[in-house]
Amino acid sequence: MINVTKPFLPPRKEYDLYLDGIWERNWLTNNGPLVNDLELKLKDYLDLKHLLFVSNGTIALQIAIKAMELSGEIITTPFSYVATTSSIVWENCTPIFVDIDKNSFNIDASKIENSITEKTSAILATHVFGNPCNIDAIEAIAQKHELKIIYDAAHCFGSKYKGKSVMEYGDISTLSFHATKLYHTTEGGAVVSPKPELIEKMAFLRNFGHDGPDKFKSIGINGKNSEFHAAMGLANLKYADDIIKKRMDDHAIYNKWLNPLKLQTQFISKDVDFNHAYYPVVFNTEDDCKLILKELANREIYARRYFYPVLSSLNYVKKQSTPIADDISKRILCLPLYYQLNETEINMICRVILRYLNKEQG
Ligand SMILES: *Cc1c(COP(=O)(O)O)cnc(C)c1O
Repeated sequence: MINVTKPFLPPRKEYDLYLDGIWERNWLTNNGPLVNDLELKLKDYLDLKHLLFVSNGTIALQIAIKAMELSGEIITTPFSYVATTSSIVWENCTPIFVDIDKNSFNIDASKIENSITEKTSAILATHVFGNPCNIDAIEAIAQKHELKIIYDAAHCFGSKYKGKSVMEYGDISTLSFHATKLYHTTEGGAVVSPKPELIEKMAFLRNFGHDGPDKFKSIGINGKNSEFHAAMGLANLKYADDIIKKRMDDHAIYNKWLNPLKLQTQFISKDVDFNHAYYPVVFNTEDDCKLILKELANREIYARRYFYPVLSSLNYVKKQSTPIADDISKRILCLPLYYQLNETEINMICRVILRYLNKEQG
């Protein structure tokens, strides 16, 4: 069976060494030494000033919204994982969807201003599949209208924009280290900000608002993560370069097979060092997309409709029209991409796609 993704696991011995330390110290969670070590190493690897390790990428989004005390309307993208929208609603704000750009699959910055009202407090945009948004345009709009910016950077581990980590832009960026992501800590995530005052506030929010054992500075939640998760993160970090390199090689193999089909793929900005986290393809019709999904599944190969359905169609948001996102979402598949995937398997996947699309064409 080939799934769209398969978690990377480090050599068991390397993880076990960290476990030995946990057993010696008997310190399992609450900002332990492995969590601190992981935060330092992640900042170093990703070239970031500040980062806090949290329990997952969804809590990271909620903490970000809470930290900036956002209210009213938040402008966001309809083409992302559901957590991007659910976290807005969970924090009692209203998501206002702005359609995506048909080439980058990211929020179309040129359409944002039309959706700003006196209730707008922020823009929450996803760098879809690790491809950075139009950061300069979004920054200019936010500055002009005094809006905060949160970037959902769940796909961005290792992506750079204009030579700098993509997570250094905006007020806060959030990361997910879920098992299915390029780099993972089993469950986990992070909040990143260039602003020390926001990081300090988020550190309180992450830990129930505790200010010492008997004092509370603010409201808070349990957004901490454990020594076991940090151990997985430390063990995996050693392989992050290899994982990214392997993704890049796999992209080249897929491209060699599929480029002749002239299917639509994601346009990557020239200012980007891209992490190649996913391999999305947009078929010409939704029927093609469903046919390929079915034919692959018949051979126990499971691609995924990332992202489908569009978030503007969720039953807990006000209906809003996002025709470009609707259209892309109906025709897009992410093909399998993970460290253990081998060239023979990619060849097999591509042969299925070629056979069925060519048959249809003639
Ligand atoms: C995975 C993902 C999340 C959620 O992260 P979790 O760690 O699973 O909570 C949020 N946004 C995007 C874009 C994601 O892909």
